[in-house]
Amino acid sequence: MRKKIQILLLCSFFFIFSVKDSFALFGKMTISDEEKIGKEFDTKAQSMLLFVEDPEITSYVKDIIARLAREDKILPFRIKTRIVQNSAINAFAVPGGYIYVFTGLIENLNTEDEFAAVLAHEIAHVSRRHVAKRAEQTKLTNIISLTTLIAGALLGASGGENSQNIAGALILGGQAAATQSFLNYTRENEQDADHHGIETLIAANYNPKAMVSTFQIMYEKVRLYINSNIPSYLSTHPALLERVSYLNNRLQYYPQKVLDRPQKNEQFLRIKALAQGKYADASIHIERIEKSVDNSALALLTKALFYERLNRKKNAEETFLELLEKEPNDPLFLREAGRFFFQQGDLKQSLNLILRSMSIAPNDTNTQFVLAKLYAAQKENALAAKLLLNLLREFPRNAEIHQELGKVLGKEKQFFDAHKHLYIAAFFTKNQSRMQIHLRKMTEHAVSKKEKKELEQFIKKPSGKKRTP
Ligand SMILES: [Zn+2]
Repeated sequence: MRKKIQILLLCSFFFIFSVKDSFALFGKMTISDEEKIGKEFDTKAQSMLLFVEDPEITSYVKDIIARLAREDKILPFRIKTRIVQNSAINAFAVPGGYIYVFTGLIENLNTEDEFAAVLAHEIAHVSRRHVAKRAEQTKLTNIISLTTLIAGALLGASGGENSQNIAGALILGGQAAATQSFLNYTRENEQDADHHGIETLIAANYNPKAMVSTFQIMYEKVRLYINSNIPSYLSTHPALLERVSYLNNRLQYYPQKVLDRPQKNEQFLRIKALAQGKYADASIHIERIEKSVDNSALALLTKALFYERLNRKKNAEETFLELLEKEPNDPLFLREAGRFFFQQGDLKQSLNLILRSMSIAPNDTNTQFVLAKLYAAQKENALAAKLLLNLLREFPRNAEIHQELGKVLGKEKQFFDAHKHLYIAAFFTKNQSRMQIHLRKMTEHAVSKKEKKELEQFIKKPSGKKRTP
């Protein structure tokens, strides 16, 4: 059986510098160097990690980051956010302002303030340019080597759902820790990010106590998973209790009304329920959730999503119906149930739920996506294509939308564009063989001058043109 380890990897990025030693000095690392490294790293990350593209989750995270970034007065980069499908409790920042948030982080925290605390910490690493400074000090400014190093160590370590790989990363970090003194330096970085992060958190109107409780949660989780299979150095790194203690000291200096700020969690808990239901390992968590006494609507939602992913259709249907009975007018629940019934082929029930959801939340892009699929199922291909193209403007990297649009255009006999979108879908789901098939088909169907030109661009740049980060 696959062993499940959920471990803290917060800021694991910094371990990577430990495996260096033989890099040439190229002088100072500039802002544009950093941007270049970040971009190269991100391209590698796209091909190796699975990103969450669910607009509900991504918009939520981006909004919080924007709210925090506004308060960090020295931030030299626009933050680019990626959400990685992985159960590790992790987030890390890469040079150039790329922040990667793991779904495991969302799944294990309790309030938006706690989540924002981690993000504020990562933003502080970016704005304080810790990586650039560290690289300069260690004479590690050869950009190509640096990028390869980061990508190799980090991506190789945390790719996909397989958490054994994550244990690999920790071992790598562990060995390095034994031979290098960098860990002390990293602690300084971490402290610096904690202190600046907490200021940003406060300026963005969150409760600073959340940063302390976040570290406490992590400490408990790490302790829970510590066993003989995990390198012992993890039990000390990253000195979570020490961080709890100095942050607690710092809290004493803030006015009571700041410490009394209510922590928001309504929206966070919805996102958490969705992230769990859609990305946590259902086969592992279903037993716990079935035994749980929590009969809240959000718990029902997660349970229904687990059943759906485990292909226990009857259980899923019953749970969705129970959920709707409990909360008949919540657009999220109506939408998820509508999506489920669509998958089951019950178009009538699906349409009914989706239209009800839309009447309450007309701008919900997930709902619009299901509606587009309902149009397509009813052979209203033009309507479906129009809706999907609109959605792509907002979410150009969403594989599911490209896939659906490809199918719809195929039915309309627009073969070049159909294969183009199927190709992009294959690119974002990292399906090499399907990419090749669709590229071949695009070549066959490229007739007009415009299509031929587009095809050329695809061959040059496999992610398609104008893919905004
Ligand atoms: Zn950090």
